[in-house]
Amino acid sequence: MPTKSSERWVADGDNMVMEFERLGYSTDLQYAEDVIENQVAQIENMITKGVKVLVIAAIDGESLTDVLVKANDQNIQVIAYDRLIRNSEHVSYYATFDNFKVGVLQASYIEETLGLKEGNGPFNIELFAGSPDDNNAYFFFDGAMSVLQPYIDSGALVVRSGQVDMSQVATLRWDGSLAQTRMDNLLSANYANRRLDAVLSPYDGISIGILSSLKGIGYGASDQPMPVVTGQDAELPSIKSILAGEQTMTVFKDTRELAKKAVQMVDAVLNDREAEVNDTETYDNGVKVVPSYLLEPVAVDATNWEDILVGSGYYTKEQITE
Ligand code: BGC
Repeated sequence: MPTKSSERWVADGDNMVMEFERLGYSTDLQYAEDVIENQVAQIENMITKGVKVLVIAAIDGESLTDVLVKANDQNIQVIAYDRLIRNSEHVSYYATFDNFKVGVLQASYIEETLGLKEGNGPFNIELFAGSPDDNNAYFFFDGAMSVLQPYIDSGALVVRSGQVDMSQVATLRWDGSLAQTRMDNLLSANYANRRLDAVLSPYDGISIGILSSLKGIGYGASDQPMPVVTGQDAELPSIKSILAGEQTMTVFKDTRELAKKAVQMVDAVLNDREAEVNDTETYDNGVKVVPSYLLEPVAVDATNWEDILVGSGYYTKEQITE
């Protein structure tokens, strides 16, 4: 797994260990704290130790090509977990969510909250994307822009900073403090005498950084309501922020289901069976299209959190409201 600094990856790891153990497998779970070299070294050690299968959520989807050649030399199969591993033929399957749809959900939420379909506007928006070394970041951003671009073109949405390309809006390693600094700069350069109405944020940790910056200049007070701020992963600090009226929404991705899918894939490859997939077109990693299973992401806000998050048993109500 890439890092423990985000709750979701801790849940992913724990859920996989549980599922594997249920089927009688033993596991070696490692976190690389977002350092590419750590992750490569961890994988190399696992190959040396003689693991049977590697399940990898890559930090940098393009940095595992060489180490996967070594895995393949030892007949170790590889499952890409949540993030596509690029530039390698040695990836058997990919378990993930419908990543384009994540972006569509975030942007559709902005569209609805601002009443863009009804012709309201113009509104000011700023855009944030995820890490440029994570294939998912492009899918999230493209999904979101598929909804937002027509409004930007028509002038109903205005990006005052002019920063609309992935290269301008990406956030290396999904780092919330980098996002906070960028938001500080965007606000001071473009919004001294103007209101910001919406922020497209791809991930809860980034949203928290953006919200700190906004709070720092008075947003969230009764006379200056927060802009619409999106998110992803339904992490506890963000659910609490949604209930406090700060972050507006997040996208829930049930890591229990993803873990199950990955474990099923492992079980299939170890038993010479084909794994169940539902997408064989989307995820071209530069060398091959990796057969994938895409799970459904769900938009969560102050109106449905209890149903979706507590109702599904993902969190207890106390975890959220304590
Ligand atoms: C995952 C997201 C997560 C992000 C930052 C992406 O690859 O799909 O769920 O928010 O990484 O950890």
